[in-house]
Amino acid sequence: MELQHINTNRDGQERESPTDLGQAMHDFMADLFPLCRSITGNGVRETLAYIGSKIPLDIHEVPSGTQVFDWSVPLEWNIADAFIKDPSGKRLIDFQKCNLHVVNYSAPIHTRMTLADLKPHLHSLPDHPTWIPYRTSYYRENWGFCLSHKQLSELPEGLELEVCIKSTLSPGSLTYGECYLRGATEQEILISCHVCHPSLGNDNLSGLAVATALAKAMAEKTRRYSYRFIFIPATIGAITWMARNEAALKNIKHGLVITGVGDRGTTTYKKSRRGDAEVDRAMQHVLRHDEPGHCVIDFFPYGYDERQYCSPAFNLPVGCLMRTPHGQYPEYHTSADNLDFVRAESLAESYAHCLALFDILDHNRTYINQSSKGEPQLGRRGLYRDVAGQQESKVFELSLLWVLNMSDGTHSLLDIAERAGYPFTTIRRAAVLLEQHGLLQSVEHVGDQ
Ligand code: ZN
Repeated sequence: MELQHINTNRDGQERESPTDLGQAMHDFMADLFPLCRSITGNGVRETLAYIGSKIPLDIHEVPSGTQVFDWSVPLEWNIADAFIKDPSGKRLIDFQKCNLHVVNYSAPIHTRMTLADLKPHLHSLPDHPTWIPYRTSYYRENWGFCLSHKQLSELPEGLELEVCIKSTLSPGSLTYGECYLRGATEQEILISCHVCHPSLGNDNLSGLAVATALAKAMAEKTRRYSYRFIFIPATIGAITWMARNEAALKNIKHGLVITGVGDRGTTTYKKSRRGDAEVDRAMQHVLRHDEPGHCVIDFFPYGYDERQYCSPAFNLPVGCLMRTPHGQYPEYHTSADNLDFVRAESLAESYAHCLALFDILDHNRTYINQSSKGEPQLGRRGLYRDVAGQQESKVFELSLLWVLNMSDGTHSLLDIAERAGYPFTTIRRAAVLLEQHGLLQSVEHVGDQ
């Protein structure tokens, strides 16, 4: 596979506009789309190797049988081929054409049987007769095929069909990837996305594309927090990762699961179990200012890996960013969730929301006004324009007053932005200027003295 930075185009030029970046993320998805991923196996390894060609990525292998909390790492699954052939040897169903055709984690089988005997192992969608469903059987050994309802209706009755799944289920390992970007503090922001789905687009190559682009962008920034991007198989991967890193979970100050961020629906943010964590408030702030029509939903204990991070023993402040929630679009977990279903614009918008979130989290501080007996005289310091009336400078001047008034050591810049109804970036700009003039001192600095 071609090595190239996700933020550069195919000629190696830096991508500048959101459209270019959205297209770059879509190209990234197209490169990964054909691979047959699962919760273990070579499809995940190849995917992680590709991501590792874009960003620094540590690859971890956890042996089958390893106990992780209440679970154990399963046998590793790999697949070379699968088909249903008619008596003439013609492939009626062919894994080489679409890897969704095999129930993911199917045990190997090679036999002949009639359609009647095969039917309990076939899955189709009568309501969407040209789509192939995506099905898995991870924790109960089984085998099966997924096919369009049209294909099912065309399978011949009464004939002996050759049924073959060339897969292996054997001791190996579970593979995950981790990109750690050390910041000024060990406290960290966790970004997690699942890497286990085969040829599906929105769920969740979109998340992998956005997270990889974010890691690339954050690697080039000065960071207060450390950032940890993890690319893991759903459920068992999150549980495995937490079990291996239990002592370090206390460093996670904010977290986000990124999934299904490329469809044409509006953005949905699912709050952490805490509901009022800083990440919850910050993401809602971003969406309120940047995407009218977005949706915020409360935590519930199913969905994606937020349910592991938010399990009661950990209760980490981890929310979930998506567009249309899983199961609420008919293409979900079918072959119709393909590259055409994902829009470059949606990827770019989701990426921008995350960067804005990180900007708030990294710069949200609490200050103490150093001249709090009455208002300090701003005009004398050149902070109040002589000519009033310009709307933009008016908002900025009011932001100065908001920051001064609320900076009593108990309100963060995000609190102030919310109270004032102004974007965080404007409030922060005001605080930076006031600090430069000695009118504010950050609470952290007070604590250092
Ligand atoms: Zn899924």
